[in-house]
Amino acid sequence: MAKKSQYGERCSFCGGPMSPDAALLPSPINPQVCICSDCLGQIYDVFGEELHLGGNKKKAKPSAGASKSNKKVPTPREINDFLNQYVIGQDDAKKYLSVAVYNHYKRLNQKDSEIDPDVDIEKSNIIIVGPTGTGKTLLAKTIARLLDVPFTIVDATVLTEAGYVGEDIESLLTRLLQAADYDVERAQRGIVFIDEIDKIARKGDNPSITRDVSGEGVQQGLLKLLEGSIVNVPPQGGRKHPEQKMIPVDTKDILFICGGAFDGIERKIAHRLNTHVVGYSTDASKQKIQRDNYLQYVAPQDLKSFGLIPEIIGRLPILTHLEPLDRNALLRVLTEPKNAIIRQYVKMFAMDGVELTFAPEALELIVDKAIEYKLGARGLRSIVESIMVEAMYNTPGTKTKQLTITRDYALEQIQKAHFETETV
Ligand code: ADP
Repeated sequence: MAKKSQYGERCSFCGGPMSPDAALLPSPINPQVCICSDCLGQIYDVFGEELHLGGNKKKAKPSAGASKSNKKVPTPREINDFLNQYVIGQDDAKKYLSVAVYNHYKRLNQKDSEIDPDVDIEKSNIIIVGPTGTGKTLLAKTIARLLDVPFTIVDATVLTEAGYVGEDIESLLTRLLQAADYDVERAQRGIVFIDEIDKIARKGDNPSITRDVSGEGVQQGLLKLLEGSIVNVPPQGGRKHPEQKMIPVDTKDILFICGGAFDGIERKIAHRLNTHVVGYSTDASKQKIQRDNYLQYVAPQDLKSFGLIPEIIGRLPILTHLEPLDRNALLRVLTEPKNAIIRQYVKMFAMDGVELTFAPEALELIVDKAIEYKLGARGLRSIVESIMVEAMYNTPGTKTKQLTITRDYALEQIQKAHFETETV
């Protein structure tokens, strides 16, 4: 605090003149700008609770999204309900994610009086195993949308150990900083989705003799990010260089969600289960193994056999899986989610005053083609696009008010789009 004689004559906040002995708080960047003790008192009255100014006066930025504030974190059921609006099926993963995210933000929102040094609630990073195009990224994105926290998707395949061609591991936090407009405090409570985590698996089951710069080396580098430490992040990403100014980011409260297809992990799971069954199968009441979907039995030891190092697995304590999407699920993906592909086209045509409808047989054809071309949910959009491009080109500016996409029309357009071309 300083006396007015040294600084401004009036409080810059209320504009009021100072009494001779009023205490003033000058701005750290411009001493001419001051705030008087009366205004400070009012700020305390209005925001004191919210900013946690009581007791040991710990400050929290109000802008920090789902931060230590009165903002209510949705319950696991509410998170699950929200996910249901955008993601079809995947009930197990939704449940795991909802609980993990709820606990994560509960941990962040602990009041100072609730912090018990003996019972430290640890961070619950998540790993999702599932075939490509089944909703791993969609789940992570949807959660970020609900929580209104900075969110970024990074691809583990671009990361390499320092000194090799590729990006430094710290650069994945650069994207998070960018998503938070370089508000470090906000970024420190964000979510990072690391895609294709399976691609940094150790090549071979044994620790390597030759250097494995994009596998085990990267896993080692990721460890410190996942467990929570202060990491120096290059503001523009890429490789760090000595003259660059780094931004220190504390990863202790960043939630990491990792996803990967782990192609071939079923064999490892089957091997484990079968060995297990041979050894202990005397118990007749033992649950029968569903052999058509081994992924549901995925366990940490399978990730280890696949090539993740035990330390990484330990820092991703929540393991869940996604189911492959069957025909029925793909049909639902087309029409049910809030931003389903078909709804998007209907909206686009409605903006031109055209009522667009799809015959149910046309929708079935789209799904059958996606299955036939082994494109899964990822292929639905390009198939619909190929069907609609002609109509999107021709309809605007005409008197058409209604358009129905029949199966025959859809098939004709798909054939025109050369989806059907066989390689000779
Ligand atoms: P991945 O599992 O490879 O991360 P994505 O989440 O990126 O797959 O899915 C690709 C696209 O497929 C999504 O943008 C979405 O349109 C659709 N999709 C995939 N799975 C689902 C699902 N379970 N529910 C709704 N849409 C889905």
